[in-house]
Amino acid sequence: MSSPLHGLTIDSIRAALLAKKFSAEELARQSLAYAEAENPKTNAYLTLSPERALNAARAVDAKIASGEDPGPLAGVPIAVKDVIVTRGLRTTCGSKLLANYVPPYDATAVIRLEQAGGVILGKTNCDEFAMGSSNENSAFGPVRNPVALDRVPGGSSGGSAAVVAQETAVVSLGSDTGGSVRQPASFCGISGVTPTYGRVSRYGLTAFASSLDHIGPFGKTTRDAARLLQVIAGRDEMDSTSAFAPVPDYPAALDCNLREVKIGLPREYFDGLASETGDLVMAAVGVLQKLGCEVRNIELPHTAYAVAAYYIIATAEASANLARYDGVRYTTRSPGVNTLSDMYRMTRDEGFGDECKRRIMLGTYVLSAGYYDAYYLKAQKVRHLIARDFAEAFEQVDAIVAPVSPFPAFKLGEKVKDPISMYLSDIYTITGSLAGIPCMSVPCGRTAEGLPVGLQVLTRHFDESTMFRIADAYEKASH
Ligand code: GLN
Repeated sequence: MSSPLHGLTIDSIRAALLAKKFSAEELARQSLAYAEAENPKTNAYLTLSPERALNAARAVDAKIASGEDPGPLAGVPIAVKDVIVTRGLRTTCGSKLLANYVPPYDATAVIRLEQAGGVILGKTNCDEFAMGSSNENSAFGPVRNPVALDRVPGGSSGGSAAVVAQETAVVSLGSDTGGSVRQPASFCGISGVTPTYGRVSRYGLTAFASSLDHIGPFGKTTRDAARLLQVIAGRDEMDSTSAFAPVPDYPAALDCNLREVKIGLPREYFDGLASETGDLVMAAVGVLQKLGCEVRNIELPHTAYAVAAYYIIATAEASANLARYDGVRYTTRSPGVNTLSDMYRMTRDEGFGDECKRRIMLGTYVLSAGYYDAYYLKAQKVRHLIARDFAEAFEQVDAIVAPVSPFPAFKLGEKVKDPISMYLSDIYTITGSLAGIPCMSVPCGRTAEGLPVGLQVLTRHFDESTMFRIADAYEKASH
């Protein structure tokens, strides 16, 4: 059975609805039935929301019938990562602790999607509290990569990437703290965007590492990802770190030529990348050159310290953010305990998975008296140097291109027993996250085994337009 969403994009759905080729309700019904039938293959959806989806679809149909504008995402079937809260719809964060948590409010991004006519089909599986690079840390079982079912889809937004690749949604929302949108996008062969820190409100995004957390869109094409970002971006009073910067018209930046665009290749990302991934990324650089880009070699000298700095800062913030899951609020409570301290202890011991426990311990350690200066403060200084590397590079070039991951999707189970090697796989995505700059992954071909590889494009703070322009031109030239 082929997907009712096959070949559909945000633009083509809108055109078809306005031409009365199908109704939003018909599309939602077919998509839900298809998602239900296909989901056992990948375990990408944790919860489907038929009632909510059909109500949203009927509202779009009613607007079209009365001649009103149905909105920029009219009738588009969308999936949302299960760390983003949805009113009345279970939000688990991939954790046993929140297996029965039904939030009383919607995230700002979710409100904006629905106001724009989007149809939320359901919530997607992810690593517990977004901690992981393979989606194997979910309390609800791993997600399988739709491109190769014995492989991981990447993490932590593995479910959100898988549903787009599997065509059980047209677009989706993920979250990215150190690479969790770009890496699964690259493993599943789709586009995934981490906007500038502060571009999208974090209100309703369950906090992992607050100074690094972003909500980001996935789409089959750069255009779809750009359209989705357009809807969710912009200042929100509910998040004091959301930026006042005006949101440009992203789709207007597409279909442009790349003449006079200067692109930097960071030496630190390509040294030692003698692999199929390296070859595919270099071939993509060749295409960009043919399109008129001027390519320069640049240096980002503090890259080697990024993984260490990230896993100190992210775990420190996580240890504080996860303190709220204590059996009093939100979570299920360990039964049969008699004292308050036992309730805290047993709830957390039974509820958190191994990776969360590892991070709580690491984070508590690096923040503790006597170690704060040696670890946390040092890591913050390194973060500053990494951000400065980028700022200096952007004095010479308009964008930086790099690999997303050192290798394509690996086999399920291959790295779970070795957390350090899992952490090291984030080397190319963590730097952009620490600097807070916009970065995305756009598909740049497949290995001999048929595994997708992503090209990463990074630009200056708030310059998502240049990033989209480069990714879109590359995508068109390479098809
Ligand atoms: N893989 C990284 C980690 O485990 C990034 C996760 C993320 O971006 N949410 O922390």
